[in-house]
Amino acid sequence: MTAEPNPHLLIAWAPEFIYVGNRFESNRALVCDAAGTVVEIVDTASLKDEKRINLPRRALLPGMVNAHSHAFQRVLRGKTEYRTANQRDSFWTWRELMYSAATRLGPEDIYDASRMAFLEMALSGITAVGEFHYLHHAPDGSPYDDPNVLAKEVIRAAGEVGLRIALLRVAYARSGFQTEPNPRQARFIESTPDRFLKHFELLARSVPGYARVSRALKLEESTPEACVPRDTAWIGIAPHSVRAVPLDYLKELIGYADQHDLKTHMHVAEQPAEVSACVEEYGRTPVALLQTEGLLSQRFTAVHAIHVTPKAIASFAQTGAMVCACPTTERNLGDGVVPADEYLKNQVALCLGTDSHTQIDFFEDARELEYHLRLQKLERAVLDDESQVSSFKSQGLAARLFDCATVNGARSIGAPGGALVSGKPADFFTVDLDDPSIAGATTEDLLPAIVFSSSRAAIREVVVAGKPIVSEGQHLLQEDVVERFSDLQRRLWH
Ligand SMILES: [Zn+2]
Repeated sequence: MTAEPNPHLLIAWAPEFIYVGNRFESNRALVCDAAGTVVEIVDTASLKDEKRINLPRRALLPGMVNAHSHAFQRVLRGKTEYRTANQRDSFWTWRELMYSAATRLGPEDIYDASRMAFLEMALSGITAVGEFHYLHHAPDGSPYDDPNVLAKEVIRAAGEVGLRIALLRVAYARSGFQTEPNPRQARFIESTPDRFLKHFELLARSVPGYARVSRALKLEESTPEACVPRDTAWIGIAPHSVRAVPLDYLKELIGYADQHDLKTHMHVAEQPAEVSACVEEYGRTPVALLQTEGLLSQRFTAVHAIHVTPKAIASFAQTGAMVCACPTTERNLGDGVVPADEYLKNQVALCLGTDSHTQIDFFEDARELEYHLRLQKLERAVLDDESQVSSFKSQGLAARLFDCATVNGARSIGAPGGALVSGKPADFFTVDLDDPSIAGATTEDLLPAIVFSSSRAAIREVVVAGKPIVSEGQHLLQEDVVERFSDLQRRLWH
């Protein structure tokens, strides 16, 4: 005998507009099952016994996916905005300040800083994050009893806040080509690929997404409770950069990732000095090195990829590799401008990251991708797709930027969300149509209004797997997270 499905387990979210297939539709409801999966999007008139949640004056959009984060760097906000004595400030001087904070954080501090970063992400409509995690050891470089204790604190923080997380475990072998070891990097170093992979597999056995990872890694089965929920946390591989990981090490890691079908992220061409050091060591630019050694693939995401040649852009296009731009961080660090127009012209998919968390407002990253190019080229609508002009004149550019923040991010980190379609998780957020920053928008210009002009305060509800984590603009744990983070900052910077 088969039991009838219980209709009361279905929930229908009924806002004023839902973003489906790159446009807003009205009189529609998002129907989800009790497991938090989208069942269908239907006309509200055809709703029957579903539990209906009305969301008047709200537009509902798929949750955004932040493909590049260093959560602990949230502690640096406001602490580095000055010129250090007698020198030109740059990424490299900022990095020394960042290291001074990184060397002082214990496991509980990492948890508190990560919760703060993830909470802000949730408040900005982000429902999944790719955490590029490189703090592994105690401050003096000695391993903790559990070599993944810090990674687990980050995963725990994401779980508490309610975000999905891809823990992209970072391999870091050295300070750089012909560069003396920097004691402030001692927490990151795993000097051989064997050591890295041993720790990686230990982590694979313990993350909640073990079931998914274990199939990829062909590890033994874990305890049943460790197997669920499998799409909440999972892992990927992140060789830090060509500067920090020498070629032999890099090849072994990427070979492993290929064999096990793991997402691979790497900082690439963020700074001109990184490119010139690579040319000095290998006679090739970072992207040429990756291309000629066969290390690029559809699972590969190059983070930043700012200082690149046309040939490098063609290499990404040929291999299906993606690029993750982090505009709010790139402008803060003076990194340069991601040539997003060239990438899009060549069909290289772009996603977005909040990276150093100098600001967490994901629409700001989306709009800066375009705005940086406007300032550089002295023209407007640089990233608009001419082929789309006739069909969605006012929405084409905004939809393109929103895709970078959603579906492309999900593809980059292997997240299950990114779009509201049946079978995918009910990960979404709402915006208040009466928020002063977007008030007066029509259905046609609502998406451009949201992407280019909305304030973070317009985001009111955030739901992951059908469960609200933010309601009326407040996260359920907000007070506790902020209080503990403020305590941490007082201790860290007194
Ligand atoms: Zn980064």
